[in-house]
Amino acid sequence: RRAAFAALKGEVPITKDGHRVTVMVNAGLRDDVAALDLTGADGIGLFRTEFQFLISATLPQREAQRRLYKDVLDAAGDRPVVFRTVDIGGDKALPYLDHDENGEEENPAMGWRALRLALDRDGLMKVQARALLEAAAGRTLSVMFPMVSEPWEFDQARALFETQRAWLEARGHKLPLQVRYGAMLEVPALAEVLDILLPNLDFLSIGTNDLTQFLFAADRAHPKLAVRYDWLSPSILRFLHRVTSQTHAAGIPVAVCGEMGGRPLEAMALIGLGIERLSITPAAVGPIKAMVRSLDRASLTGTMTQLLAQPPRDMRAALQDWAETNGV
Ligand code: PEP
Ligand code: MG
Repeated sequence: RRAAFAALKGEVPITKDGHRVTVMVNAGLRDDVAALDLTGADGIGLFRTEFQFLISATLPQREAQRRLYKDVLDAAGDRPVVFRTVDIGGDKALPYLDHDENGEEENPAMGWRALRLALDRDGLMKVQARALLEAAAGRTLSVMFPMVSEPWEFDQARALFETQRAWLEARGHKLPLQVRYGAMLEVPALAEVLDILLPNLDFLSIGTNDLTQFLFAADRAHPKLAVRYDWLSPSILRFLHRVTSQTHAAGIPVAVCGEMGGRPLEAMALIGLGIERLSITPAAVGPIKAMVRSLDRASLTGTMTQLLAQPPRDMRAALQDWAETNGV
């Protein structure tokens, strides 16, 4: 099987009825970029910049950040890379940062983390913004913000980057040709105000790991809750369908970058909901390509519409059934 998936490296993920699905990888370390050539993926849909902070004994300085980002962009070449600003705080506390004012959090996943911390203590994000802007000089920079709950948070983060860009420009630094700004949708509240966010957004990336735990109020790491944390539940699928349709209607690209997209049955359901971009763990690229290439999207979309309108008790079994009957 492994050999069969490796053989798919050069194959394009396109459905039988001609729909191209963009399959990218999630990464976080310099060496992860090798996965692009190994798998033949279309790019890096999620680069988790906090990894550098988590493995470092001291706060990574701007130059160390810039070097990492530039190395990643160089290695990716023509393939796009989406950098996510740091998702630290909560359970990803950094020993060298003063988290004292934070104290022990009872619910770290819902705590002072990611963009919340970055906006309240914006020194860290200013440095990161400069490092990213400098690293992407002469090319496109795609940056996205984690845990956006309200449109103003995105606007503020974007403005912070724009201020840094102006600062660099005034000092004669070479700048990116273009900066694209995205939001992660992983806090359900954002979906209710998506119309307000969309005009300022260049792309949306749905983080189904956090989104699912918040939609179900079920800890993503709790073994006893695993059955209640089901990516194929009608509530998740309807939610994703609504968000995807609304965002596409505004002409804005949507990706899914959570682990859900790396499982063939779940990824099949996502494609049936209209998702055309996945960012997944490198080991899943082969299996997902194989699934995509066996798929008739038009017929899947019809089935998904029916299943969402009248969800069966066991959605997983229904989708599995459809897949088997249709040679997926
Ligand atoms: C997610 O929440 O789905 C996601 C991709 O981010 P992380 O897993 O890093 O929280
Ligand atoms: Mg997340």
